[in-house]
Amino acid sequence: MSIQQLGYEFDAYSNLLFVPVGRRYSSIRSIGHKEERAVLSRIQQSVTEELNALDAEQREQLSRFIGSEKAMLPIPVYKQEHIYPMLVRPEMFLWTTHSLQRGLPIDHALFYEKTYSKLSSEQLADHIRHVVRDYVFCAHLQQQERSQWINRIAAAYKKHPFIQLAEAKEPIVNAVETMNRSSLLAVLKFPEDIAFWRHRVEIVMRPYRQIPGSWRWEMCDHAKELTILDETQSILCECPICQFQITYDVNKDEITLPEEPIMERTVKRIATIERQFNEIADQSLNVIGALRELQTIQQKLKPHIPLLEEVLTLQNELEIHDEMEITNCYSAIKEIEIPDESITPELLSLSEVKLMDVAILKEAGKWSNIDFNQAKEQLQLHLAHLLELQAERQPKPGDVIFETNGFQLTRAEAEKVELFTEQTDLTLTFHILSQVLKGEPTNKIRTLQLHESPIFGLLRSWPDKYITKAVKKMLT
Ligand SMILES: [Zn+2]
Repeated sequence: MSIQQLGYEFDAYSNLLFVPVGRRYSSIRSIGHKEERAVLSRIQQSVTEELNALDAEQREQLSRFIGSEKAMLPIPVYKQEHIYPMLVRPEMFLWTTHSLQRGLPIDHALFYEKTYSKLSSEQLADHIRHVVRDYVFCAHLQQQERSQWINRIAAAYKKHPFIQLAEAKEPIVNAVETMNRSSLLAVLKFPEDIAFWRHRVEIVMRPYRQIPGSWRWEMCDHAKELTILDETQSILCECPICQFQITYDVNKDEITLPEEPIMERTVKRIATIERQFNEIADQSLNVIGALRELQTIQQKLKPHIPLLEEVLTLQNELEIHDEMEITNCYSAIKEIEIPDESITPELLSLSEVKLMDVAILKEAGKWSNIDFNQAKEQLQLHLAHLLELQAERQPKPGDVIFETNGFQLTRAEAEKVELFTEQTDLTLTFHILSQVLKGEPTNKIRTLQLHESPIFGLLRSWPDKYITKAVKKMLT
């Protein structure tokens, strides 16, 4: 339903369209009382002047927006023939339609704040100028669907010079963030250089950190809220989920970020932060040397990994803390991350190194002395030794699993009881089981034929209270 169809026209006010708010009436015979008519005349005059000042295309867009043959401005009326004290904002009609049955909703966000009857002639003319400007802007926006504008905003976002820079520099940005948290910083020289670098990181990373994950480096896919900023001819595009917003300048077809970086400076800064770190790394060649040693050791360990894993698993199972250098070395190196490519004193290379504890760097020299040529034989020998130990520790039938005051229950006896309780269909209570083990041929036990079971009288020589304890042990 066009705005024109919602409203009423009067000959005296040829550029005004009277639109009911709050409730719609089938007809409005006359409009306004004496005082209101004076204001309406002034509005009509200002509107006419402003419309005349528009170019042909703007007038054409405005009349299309209103749905009338000529450009007009809506004036809200209520209670059948009174004018509403505030003018209605064009956003009321943008990308939406209203029902002919009802008047426009009285939603204060969709009305101007100024009470126009209280304005001086000059103030009113000024107000009307702004209102007409806003209507012209929304009429322009109405030329395209809301979704088309969102597509335009997304395209402009991708073209923004900072977003393009951030996308191109993503590996460096990620490396700076990783390095800033790296344990390696504790061993690089010199502490004051590191402190200065980290201070610069906070400044240099600020524009990158303002961009939420889902906006890197395209606009997120969530539903957007658009707010029309008439004054700057812009659209504020906000994602309530990411809590991020950008502003789109309709005329320039450009977006601005919440914190707009100064590009020339930003381009320089990202290059500088990388160079400064490389200079620091260059002062710490001892660390680079130790890392390269670890890299070499890692390579030499590779062919032995299956054997090493077998040894470690067995050691764990047998709770043995081994003193073999090579297994200690392997356990420690397993915990770290080192790139396969040769390590260089540079940000990108060092950001790929992840050490749980920098103490490992001190071990590198010691581990370099491991004779890897002998590793296979030594590991096999050690493994054979561990397997023997494992065999020795296998459970045996004669193992005593419960003992009290000289009365011993062996593994074989316990297993016999366990097997019987599992195989019998009878539900043996704690009490009955104790009686069976004691070998008491009560009526109940005879009825159940338990006096013929293989465990009947198994603990005949035991005092009752110890049998109770032994049964508890077996049942838990
Ligand atoms: Zn989002």
